[in-house]
Amino acid sequence: MYKLMINGIVQGVGFRPFIYKLAVEEDLKGFVLNNTGGVEIIVEGDKSTLQRFMTRIKSELPPAAKIESVSVRELPDRGYNKFEIKLSTKGNGSTLISPDLAVCDDCIREFSDPDDFRYHYSFINCTNCGPRYSIIKETPYDRPVTSMRDFNMCNKCRSEYTNPLDRRFHAQPIACQECGPELQFIGKDLKSINGDPIQNTIDALKQGKIVGIKGIGGFHLACDATNFEAIAEMRRRKNRPDKPFAIMANESNLAEIVEFAKTDLVLLRSTIAPIVILPKRSPSILATNLAPFNPNIGVFLPYAPHHYQIVDEKLPFLIMTSGNLQDEPIAKDAFELQQICDFFLTHNRPILNRSDDSIILPTGKFNVLLRRSRGYVPTPIQAPFPLIPTLACGAELKLTFALSNNKEYFLSPYIGNSGSKATMDFYEETLQKYKRWFNLDPELVVCDLQPDFTTTKLAEAMKLPLVKVQHHHAHTAAIMAEHGLDEKVIGISYDGTGFGTDKAIWGGEILIANYENFERIYHLEYMPLPGGDASIKHPIRIAYAYLRSAGIDTSFLTGIPSWEQKVISKQLVNNFNVFQTSSMGRLFDCVAAMLDLYPNITFEAQSAMALEFLCENEDVLQIEPFSFHIKSGLIGIKPLLRDIAEAIKNKAEQKIIAKRFHRTILEFTLVTAQRLRRDNNLNKIVLSGGVMQNKLIVSGLAELLVKNDFEVYRPQKLPANDGSISVGQLMIANRINKNKMEK
Ligand code: ZN
Ligand code: ZN
Ligand code: FE
Repeated sequence: MYKLMINGIVQGVGFRPFIYKLAVEEDLKGFVLNNTGGVEIIVEGDKSTLQRFMTRIKSELPPAAKIESVSVRELPDRGYNKFEIKLSTKGNGSTLISPDLAVCDDCIREFSDPDDFRYHYSFINCTNCGPRYSIIKETPYDRPVTSMRDFNMCNKCRSEYTNPLDRRFHAQPIACQECGPELQFIGKDLKSINGDPIQNTIDALKQGKIVGIKGIGGFHLACDATNFEAIAEMRRRKNRPDKPFAIMANESNLAEIVEFAKTDLVLLRSTIAPIVILPKRSPSILATNLAPFNPNIGVFLPYAPHHYQIVDEKLPFLIMTSGNLQDEPIAKDAFELQQICDFFLTHNRPILNRSDDSIILPTGKFNVLLRRSRGYVPTPIQAPFPLIPTLACGAELKLTFALSNNKEYFLSPYIGNSGSKATMDFYEETLQKYKRWFNLDPELVVCDLQPDFTTTKLAEAMKLPLVKVQHHHAHTAAIMAEHGLDEKVIGISYDGTGFGTDKAIWGGEILIANYENFERIYHLEYMPLPGGDASIKHPIRIAYAYLRSAGIDTSFLTGIPSWEQKVISKQLVNNFNVFQTSSMGRLFDCVAAMLDLYPNITFEAQSAMALEFLCENEDVLQIEPFSFHIKSGLIGIKPLLRDIAEAIKNKAEQKIIAKRFHRTILEFTLVTAQRLRRDNNLNKIVLSGGVMQNKLIVSGLAELLVKNDFEVYRPQKLPANDGSISVGQLMIANRINKNKMEK
């Protein structure tokens, strides 16, 4: 007989019934069970059948399952007379938890069939789909340790649940209208409102109301995406004047609002059901204040059964934005959103673990993952080299933490920006859960160099060996890890803000780096940032300061009153509260403000995006760059600013200026990379940092560098932005710690 131990995503994805069916088909005897170490299988039979059984496990795997490792031991036969599924046992080690899975086609077929037992049942699911991560309390994954524990299965559900040949066998969230969770429509005062909750919701949305809709990983704020007034009201209540909203769209209406390729549709329809950023169609029925001055729009498809009941041909486009208050994490209970919503569509299945929707930006052949959250978490990621149990705390914005065991690491869901207590509570809560579920007890902790970050203070308070990592070294290391690189590379990190080893604000960095070390070979020349990060919301102040320090006449700048000019001039002269920065993000802000795009912004990267959008997605490689100079480690940008000021005075077309600006960045990157290759014999280039979310920069750089025979590694499976800082920290700290121990 064989004893197989299978590890990976093998619980909550129909794995045991799948094994049961295979064993019965092959006439093998024994049993299968879940334990905290994964799935254990005991099988007896003749050798060739056993071999075939093992091959079939791999080739016929259920769609949501993922095998990471299989260990096989041969043992003496025990003479079992049947094959069965046994109850879970507690073992050693940890098992993986499946991410939440979008409702599958089979379930939607039943859901749409008036003759089906679960017709229009809003919580329909099966072993291939439904909530997982969001409903789990403890491992191993079993109904009594999920938020389904208080729902007693009816006879019909129980017979499916216990029938190994049923597609709902041991589907832990199994339910029906007799026995399962139910929807409820409530008012702003949280009191129940009579009538059909779905119909009430649809009516309210059609009347232009804002409805908080409880979903899988948290609440969404919903309103009709074609209703200008409703959106304006949502913006007012959410204090979000300009930032685009994502739209949940009925699939058959999708082509009315966005352009998409087949591959985009595959993404949209995947079990992750992410928000995908796609080019807007125009003219379109969507309200103009939905994503103002933005040629793209984030769309996603219904992924919970009740989404299908609301979003259809009659109400095809709904804003469904994360239900949170400003600077707070996504809400899991209605009362948290009382100040924003008119009504709520809620239900009585608690959300135990929150996660925001994941976001993907397709850029030609490659996708850029902007947010890795629902549908991905808590699936672990293979580490490029052995690690020790480590906690990497992340930075400040787009916060995530990463926790490792020896061969893989767990990246937290998107937590938010570490401003508020609520966000840090969410961080702490999720951290404690990850430690418990995956049996991780860190021996090493790592944080950013920036002394003021909440995450830095948290790391320092832990009384564990601590490593502090420079931000752009971490950015580079994260993308190295994504590609399994473990050697010296050229790291190009174009970013907004990161604390430098010289205490300046870095962000336009060209490094030679491996995990243990980095050298900063080139960076954008330092420019003055009056008020430091506080000026980020006022690109016009950045432009004024940059131009003054470059000795460029500022009289063409609009949107900066003379009193403000005086204050900044004084600051510059006295060097009072002026920070030095090499940030690429700030250079974008400066140029955008020079072009009079946004003197002041209301969300991160608003003006940088506007500058990108001016180029209308056209190839920028064909256009002439502006001037720059490269001298002793500095990329001089004053000539660039002078050229742009000149072009503006000569009334050059904005679009041309924007394209030439992008082209200039590509060009000086190429020149510096070529020098690095010549002097250091390095040919692998790793791209990272928030600016790599700019399609023209990331695709343009990749194309130009590959054309010049570099091997280019770009962010794909990990976010280019600070969402993956914790991953880079993890790798660097482990290597530094190991070297220290060996000395
Ligand atoms: Zn299903
Ligand atoms: Zn039932
Ligand atoms: Fe960053």
